[in-house]
Amino acid sequence: MIPYGRQDIIQADIDAVVEVLQSDFLTQGPMVPRFEEAVSAKVGAKHALAVNSATSALHIACMALGLEQGDWLWTTPVTFVASANCGLYCGARIDFVDIDPRTYNLCPLALEEKLIAAERAGILPKVLVAVHLSGQSCDMQAIYALSQRYGFKIIEDASHAIGGKYQGEYIGNCRFSDITIFSFHPVKIITTAEGGMALTNSDQLAKKMNLHRSHGITRDQSLMTHPSDGPWYYQQVELGYNYRMTELQAALGMSQLTRLDRFVARRHELAKRYDELLTDLPVTTPWQHPDSYSGLHLYVIRLQLEMINQTHRQVFEALHAAGLGVNLHYIPVHTQPYYQRMGFNAGDFPEAERYYAEAISIPLFHSMTDVQQEEVIQILDKVLS
Ligand SMILES: *Cc1c(COP(=O)(O)O)cnc(C)c1O
Repeated sequence: MIPYGRQDIIQADIDAVVEVLQSDFLTQGPMVPRFEEAVSAKVGAKHALAVNSATSALHIACMALGLEQGDWLWTTPVTFVASANCGLYCGARIDFVDIDPRTYNLCPLALEEKLIAAERAGILPKVLVAVHLSGQSCDMQAIYALSQRYGFKIIEDASHAIGGKYQGEYIGNCRFSDITIFSFHPVKIITTAEGGMALTNSDQLAKKMNLHRSHGITRDQSLMTHPSDGPWYYQQVELGYNYRMTELQAALGMSQLTRLDRFVARRHELAKRYDELLTDLPVTTPWQHPDSYSGLHLYVIRLQLEMINQTHRQVFEALHAAGLGVNLHYIPVHTQPYYQRMGFNAGDFPEAERYYAEAISIPLFHSMTDVQQEEVIQILDKVLS
C-alpha cells in the first residue's frame, strides 16, 4: 500500500530524541524554548508557543483572543473538525463560509457577502479561522482588509502549510493575522509525533497563550496580584490547561526542522510531475494562486465525473483495492452529525459539498520515490480509463 502521506524519520532524529531521554529534563527543559526560537526565526514571527497538538494551539489562540459565550467563530467547511471545534470549546457559536472553487480555500467574496449580511443582523464574528488547505495560503490580503473593516480577529490554521510561502514570505509570520498555528502530527510536513505551535507578533497574546497552555499559572511577577511570597511562589491567574509539549517532541521537531525546506521542495517536484502526468486523465489537478508557494501537505484531484463511468465512491474503492492509500480531505464539517444537531443542513455550502463529491487525496510525501509515483499514475490510469 502506498500511503497518502507518511513521516520521514532518520538516524539523526532518533539520536536527538535519545539524547533528551538521557538528559535531566523530559519536560519543561531547554529543548522546547530552543524549538520555539528556531521556528519563530525560520518563519519570521516574534513569538512561538509549542503545545501538544494543533488542536490545543487553536484552543489557546481562541482563548487569548477573548472568544467566549455569545461570540461567533467562522471558518471553512472544508477542514478538519478541529478548526471549528476550538470555538465550541470556548462556548462560542460556529458558522461557515463557502469555498473558492479554484483553491478550495475559504472564498473572500463569500466572506464579504456574509459579513455584509451579518452586520445588518448585528452578529459579526469575533474570530475567523482561515485554513490553508493542502498548504496553499488563503487570500490573506483580502481577508485582512475585511478584518480591518468588520473588526474580527484572524487565526491562520496553517496545519498543512509550514514551509510554504505567501507573497514570497514564510507562512507563519502573521503579517495578515493575529495568530498562526502549525500541526506536527506525523501525516503533516514535519512531525513531533503529536504536537503543534501557535505563533504571534503580539506580546500580549503570547503572554496569554503561555498562561493558557500551562494551568493559567505564572512565575512572572508582572502578572501577579501582589509581590511574591518567596522563591517557591507562583500564582494561578487564569483557568488554563496542561497543553505542554515534551522535551522529546521538541528535540524531534528541531531535528526535522533542519530538513523542512528539502521536504517542501521534494513535494513540489512530485506535484509538478503529477500535474504533467495527469493531464490526459479525467481529473482536475490542484490550481495554485500566483501568490502562493504551497507547503503541499496534500495533492487533491477532483474527478470529472461526467467523463467517468463510475461513481466517486467506486473510483475511491478501486484505487484502494489497487494498493493506493488514498484519502478524502475533508468531509464538510457542517455535515457532521454533531454540527447538524446545531441546525446545519446538507445544501448549506454548495461549493464545499460539490468539492466533497469529487475530491480524492492521492499519495504525496517527500520520501516517495519516482517509481512509487509511476505506480500511482499507472493505477489511476487503469481505474479511470
Ligand atoms: C491536522 C489538523 C489539525 C489538528 O492537528 P493536531 O495536531 O492533530 O491537533 C487542525 N486543523 C487542520 C486543518 C489539520 O489538518
